[in-house]
Amino acid sequence: MNASAPVVEVGKEVEVDDIEFDVEHIRADFPILEREVDGRPLVYLDSANTSQKPRCVVEAIEDHYLNHNANVARAMHVLGAEATAAFEGGRQAIAGFIGAARPEEVVFTKNASEALNLCAHVLGSRLKPGDEIVISVLEHHSNIVPWQLLAERTGATLRWFDVTEEGRLDLVGAAAEGLINERTKIISVAHVSNVLGTVNPVREIAALGHAVGATVILDASQAVPQLPIDVQDLGADLVAFTGHKMVGPTGIGVLWGRYDLLAELPPFLGGGEMIEVVKMTGSTYAPPPHRFEAGTPPIAQAVGLGAAVGYLSAIGMDAIAAHEQEITAYALEGLKTVPGLRILGPSEPVDRGGAVSFTVPGIHPHDVSQLLDSRGIAVRGGHHCARPLHERFGVQSSTRASFYLYTTKGEIDALVDGLGFTQRFFGG
Ligand SMILES: *Cc1c(COP(=O)(O)O)cnc(C)c1O
Repeated sequence: MNASAPVVEVGKEVEVDDIEFDVEHIRADFPILEREVDGRPLVYLDSANTSQKPRCVVEAIEDHYLNHNANVARAMHVLGAEATAAFEGGRQAIAGFIGAARPEEVVFTKNASEALNLCAHVLGSRLKPGDEIVISVLEHHSNIVPWQLLAERTGATLRWFDVTEEGRLDLVGAAAEGLINERTKIISVAHVSNVLGTVNPVREIAALGHAVGATVILDASQAVPQLPIDVQDLGADLVAFTGHKMVGPTGIGVLWGRYDLLAELPPFLGGGEMIEVVKMTGSTYAPPPHRFEAGTPPIAQAVGLGAAVGYLSAIGMDAIAAHEQEITAYALEGLKTVPGLRILGPSEPVDRGGAVSFTVPGIHPHDVSQLLDSRGIAVRGGHHCARPLHERFGVQSSTRASFYLYTTKGEIDALVDGLGFTQRFFGG
């Protein structure tokens, strides 16, 4: 790699006490946050859907395309070598960010959905009729449908953890009904719920799964952006997440896996780059991670995601988690002042991420989000790709406000005011 090639730096360890978390300083890194919507400042409270991007991520992608663009691992020329170094540099940065034992444990996919489909596909050959796959009722559709398809294909049975009224995984109920047992082959649950914000006891679940020999998978799409994560410490075998929710670009997701497990698994998609030798009579496959990365990978996106994790670690994930905790506590307090508002999930800011979903009596969530949008406040209204969870709470849909490192208390005040306006508009 030459001197001007993008060097993706894994941020230095930062002592939380040493840095003052300066949200205005952070906001200055996100040009889009200066936007106005209908003459009002944008209040972006939809980060659980996708996060905004700091200038350094956009610039890393731009620099790649403007100065180093070539295909990776195939081209015998300088640009090819630079692009390959930048792409693999992105992989290394991400491996460092999540505490992987080695970069080869990081597989690039298109998004978290593809990473979870990859898991369901490659684990399929291990299942037979009567085996059980365990998920939970609070999953995103991306961690439900691939397992339903796999169950249909193999004759395995799909079972799930329920949640308590407070929106916590019901471990007591699960134990009583013998949910995890010797037939359990796969457990796949969210680390942090994208609707309720609940942080699930994933170490405990991994231990339960491993005690019966199951493979344990985490959908960490909401956890990796918000919490300091050490994949080796979590105890799971496979962990999926998505670049665009952690200040990175769209078009890239990650599947982390223990190397010895990845090395045992069959390929996912077939094509270029994933092979060792191809003959017309059969092929052999490359070792991980390339075995699971058929065709030209998301090169510029990997460079951008490398810059994203460099940015997050320079600020410090402990500091980001603490800021989100503070904003979430403030939001829960504010929302409780809105007459009749019902929070789905934990109403106290303990073991809870920065997504708060709620219903307002008599007003449809689509109307709530439209009226908030008319005041420049971006929230999400609907089932947030978690229909079974909404059904569990007896509602069709909800409004969700979600926060990130750039969210301010002023924006929460604007949300609470906006909800008051919405209620007055509907004569409440
Ligand atoms: C967003 C999300 C996904 C899906 O991510 P994609 O990037 O859309 O594939 C899966 N699970 C959870 C918990 C999510 O929040």
